[in-house]
Amino acid sequence: MRALQRLYLRRWTVVLAIGIIWSYVLAYHLPLLPAITGSVIVVTGSAFFRRESIFLRTSPVRVSDPVSPLVSLDSVLKGLPAPVVLLDKSGQVQHFNALAKDLFPSLRVHQHLSGFIRDPDVLEGVAQARASRQPHQVVRYETRAPERHMEITIAWIGPTHGKAPARQATILLYFFDLTEQEALAAMRSDFVANASHELRTPLASVLGFIETLQGAARDDAQARERFLGIMARQAQRMARLIDDLLSLSRIEMRQHLRPQDHVDLNAIVRHVVASLEPVAAKSNISLHVTPLPTAAVVRGDRDELVQVFSNLVENAIKYGRSNGNVWITIKAHGKKFATSVRDDGIGFAEKHRTRLTERFYRVNDNLGERTGTGLGLAIVKHTVSRHRGELNIASQVGEGSVFTVSLEAVSHNARV
Ligand code: ADP
Repeated sequence: MRALQRLYLRRWTVVLAIGIIWSYVLAYHLPLLPAITGSVIVVTGSAFFRRESIFLRTSPVRVSDPVSPLVSLDSVLKGLPAPVVLLDKSGQVQHFNALAKDLFPSLRVHQHLSGFIRDPDVLEGVAQARASRQPHQVVRYETRAPERHMEITIAWIGPTHGKAPARQATILLYFFDLTEQEALAAMRSDFVANASHELRTPLASVLGFIETLQGAARDDAQARERFLGIMARQAQRMARLIDDLLSLSRIEMRQHLRPQDHVDLNAIVRHVVASLEPVAAKSNISLHVTPLPTAAVVRGDRDELVQVFSNLVENAIKYGRSNGNVWITIKAHGKKFATSVRDDGIGFAEKHRTRLTERFYRVNDNLGERTGTGLGLAIVKHTVSRHRGELNIASQVGEGSVFTVSLEAVSHNARV
């Protein structure tokens, strides 16, 4: 196959050589035998001699191959994961990729840089790159609506000496989007600020009461009793907050590891309900459990799932109606088990629904006397996601709420 290809590629050389041989036959009566032999040598030689073997000794060894002509600049730009624009030395656009077009919809070839970026730092950076011909400098750049924070690397990619050709890409602009990274950093520092604030409030109250007990209320037995009660509650609140923070960070650390044990949701729900029965009784709330008639086995970590359903049932009691009801139901849906915790309590408005699982998020208008850490649903969300499950939330103000956790079944008989 290769031989035929070579022959085809060298067809004009072969025709020329054979033409010369046969013109000698016709013009000078060259005998037929050498003419035929010569033609055969030309054809077989063209078919079987590789070019490299002819030139191997004479051509110098190449250290690296040049980029294949099949790799165009546009395909390189297309393969880059960030917006890139190439300018010529006068600052006119010569090439750009689709991501750059997404960022600057008005971008087009031959447009001047100032037509799509007016930021003086960027314009100055480009002027400097042109003057100094230095490879890298980084400039910060911000867009409005949608608000994005970028870092632009401006690099001179033209010749370092001599005259740079006109209308050729000599300056590269590489845009690195910092928006998400900065949002994450802000979230982290918000979290630390929130956590310390949540701890500081009860701590300040405990310290205040200690001072009062040491001073003004030293000999007041009645006040001492009352203050100690408040201090105990505040200390419990701090302990709960620390427990929740530790649970959350433990779950986050293992977020990428899916649990391997097999657990039965029926058993977990029964355990949770039994342990929360006394809490529900205090508010006169009845707990109703409808387990699956068959085993509801999922891949999961028993303690973590106990915490998930405890948090949900505790919330249903806490934000439920006194003398109300909480229904805990397990159903099989295809290859999943859906466990829902429903209450007939105060509910919350739709605008809160997607934010409830954020750390420290609380719906102010439905709190009243109830105080939580604001971390319960964040723990639920992270645990469910570690279990590769789904959490659905629905509610109507004044009617109640339903929190449903769907987990993949390991095995079940879909008779419900
Ligand atoms: P908290 O410790 O404050 O209960 P969570 O993360 O468990 O924290 O819940 C966040 C917020 O979601 C609560 O402060 C409350 O406003 C709202 N919420 C949670 N569960 C319910 C529910 N069953 N009914 C109404 N509101 C709820």
